[in-house]
Amino acid sequence: GTYEAEDFFPSFGRSGRWLYFTAAPLKGADGRIIGAIETLQDITEQKRAEEQLRQSEERYRVLSITDGMTGLYNARHFSQRIVEEMDRCGRYRHPLALMVLDVDNFKAFNDTWGHVQGDQVLIRLADCITQCLRRSDQAFRYGGEEFVTLLPETDLAEAEAAAERIRAMFASCQITPTADAEVRCTASIGVTVFVPGEAPRDFVARADSGTYEAKRQGKNRVIQIPPPVTAT
Ligand code: GH3
Ligand code: MG
Ligand code: MG
Repeated sequence: GTYEAEDFFPSFGRSGRWLYFTAAPLKGADGRIIGAIETLQDITEQKRAEEQLRQSEERYRVLSITDGMTGLYNARHFSQRIVEEMDRCGRYRHPLALMVLDVDNFKAFNDTWGHVQGDQVLIRLADCITQCLRRSDQAFRYGGEEFVTLLPETDLAEAEAAAERIRAMFASCQITPTADAEVRCTASIGVTVFVPGEAPRDFVARADSGTYEAKRQGKNRVIQIPPPVTAT
């Protein structure tokens, strides 16, 4: 017959209060209810401290998986996400595509315009990637000037089209390392799709080989690497 609850009362105080209350019936000698005992406790400070802790934990969690410069996810998060997506897509036999992007002639850009301007180029590429992807796709800064994206529910042709959109958008960016200089930067992109059962290392290596082939063929291009044909 006892009752306990907590609730927020928006009209109490200046910005509302959290109250914890208990209630229990008071019975007379004959067992009849003759009243009740209620306690009320203001737990607003405790609630606010808990909420602040939750928020700062969430901020740390986001920071720990984010690349500070570009705002994309970092390489550590990639190693975790790729395994999860491979498991999920393998289980449901859904397609999963992977894109590996590498800025072309980036060492020369840094040597000419400096590292700080180089960083701006990486931020521009990250923006192009973000703008061209769908909500369910995820983009990561994989290494210094290398990026990867995971595209669930995406086949090779769709991934190739997305990569081509990124390539074209980045190539058309006006990059102005100084007020009177306008430079174009490009990227080489490899794309492939997941073969259920393969190791993450092999999946990434195949997309990487597309990037390598794009460099070999003259850079600023997308090369798709179909999965190997297996004998059944
Ligand atoms: P390629 O077209 O074959 O990719 O040539 P590249 O010059 O881009 O490739 P390379 O691997 O020789 O050079 C990569 C350069 O990227 C070297 C390194 O200084 C630069 N780099 C890596 N990380 C960063 C970064 O965070 N900021 C800047 N500004 N430069 C970076
Ligand atoms: Mg590189
Ligand atoms: Mg490069």
